Amino acid sequence: MSTHSFGGALNERLAVRDLAHVWHPCTQMKDHERDMPMIPLRRGEGVWLEDFEGRRYLDAVSSWWVNLFGHANPVLSGAIRDQLDQLEHVIFAGFTHEPAIELAEALVRVVPRGLTRCFFADNGSAAIEVAVKMSFHYWRNRGRPGKTRFLTLANSYHGETLGALAVGNVALYKDIYAPLLMQVLTAPSPDAWQCEPGESWEDCARRLFGPLRDLLEQHHAELAGVIIEPLVQCAAGMRMHHPIYLKLLREACDEFQVHLIADEIAVGFGRTGTLFACEQAHISPDLLCLSKGLTGGYLPLSVVMAGEEIYDAFYDEYQNLNAFLHSHSYTGNPLACAVARATLNLFATEPVIERNRVLAAHMGRAAAPLADHPHVAEVRQTGMILAAELVKDKRTREPYDFRERRGLRIYRHALAQGLLLRPVGNVVYFMPPYVITPDEIDFMAGVAAEAIEAATCD
Ligand SMILES: *Cc1c(COP(=O)(O)O)cnc(C)c1O
Repeated sequence: MSTHSFGGALNERLAVRDLAHVWHPCTQMKDHERDMPMIPLRRGEGVWLEDFEGRRYLDAVSSWWVNLFGHANPVLSGAIRDQLDQLEHVIFAGFTHEPAIELAEALVRVVPRGLTRCFFADNGSAAIEVAVKMSFHYWRNRGRPGKTRFLTLANSYHGETLGALAVGNVALYKDIYAPLLMQVLTAPSPDAWQCEPGESWEDCARRLFGPLRDLLEQHHAELAGVIIEPLVQCAAGMRMHHPIYLKLLREACDEFQVHLIADEIAVGFGRTGTLFACEQAHISPDLLCLSKGLTGGYLPLSVVMAGEEIYDAFYDEYQNLNAFLHSHSYTGNPLACAVARATLNLFATEPVIERNRVLAAHMGRAAAPLADHPHVAEVRQTGMILAAELVKDKRTREPYDFRERRGLRIYRHALAQGLLLRPVGNVVYFMPPYVITPDEIDFMAGVAAEAIEAATCD
């Protein structure tokens, strides 16, 4: 038996066993009966994933936006191995450890100014829950119990737990659970896709800030915070906006005494061209949520960062019951903190942001021809995130009906060519690990162009 057919059989056997008992995230499991083979992976290295038949796939989506420095990165793997022999996990109340302390110190050094306190949790949604509770609880502790509501933006995404879902706005994920969710106020998205003819991204953001300002003016007495994904609304299809929006929002939040909660879970750690997206507007949020790339894509970990003013509102005699009594069993896990510390160390010791600038420019050039395609209405880019919006009619921008599943066709075509793309609806995007090479970018753009052609030719 050749290794090839042996591998093939193994691929298939594992897929069958998987589908017998494993329920996968964000998946209609029936799709795997026919349209979408389940692919068991044997190993990863850099931007490449490899299955049991020896087929390789370039991970153009950084494994759901988490991976920064490639799979099986020797430095990051080493950091976990070293920590593993010391301490795998410990209760994080009453006890602490060097990985958490050093990570907190390193985070405070690099995040926007004023964020000096780190509250750890274990995934992005949990960080959003923490931020929402902390904001509400802050106002209560400060004698403003009427500030209980949150303002969110259309098309925003903040995770899947009930609080995170409530402050998000992607109908596909949210609508079914609406009866379970707290009520929020919703302002239009500053999404530059909504630019009027001849309008710049900046003018569009200024115009679309108007309704949010009106909501703040009307409702600030009952509002605890505004939550936003700075610069790119990723889950809504890589919707991008001009940094001026963040600057205007910061000013308005100060004016009306409402917290600005920045969800940089997806855009943090260099995705947008700066280490944090907020830097491009020269602002600091009141609460900053980080996860995904925090550990380089190795282990689940998240952190909510706050300034002294918020921290102080909880700092009191125990009897006054003003403490933030929130916890997760795996809060501050030493292995996760160790690999996060090593990830931040890579940013500190290597010119990652500068290298990314060159890679992003290359990606922009490689993907530019996509814009000429008759079914691509727009190619947009912010740093290391690039997206192409497919439409049925380029002139009117009429979208494809979701039932046609053009994105799935692109996914399948690209996989067959060795590229992992995972379109969001009709939006094809690249968000590759930072260790991708210019040649690999050319490969990615070339296969994407073929896949788009194959998926839109009828
Ligand atoms: C992924 C994501 C989350 C949720 O993180 P999970 O770890 O998947 O719970 C929240 N906000 C944004 C912007 C995200 O992209």
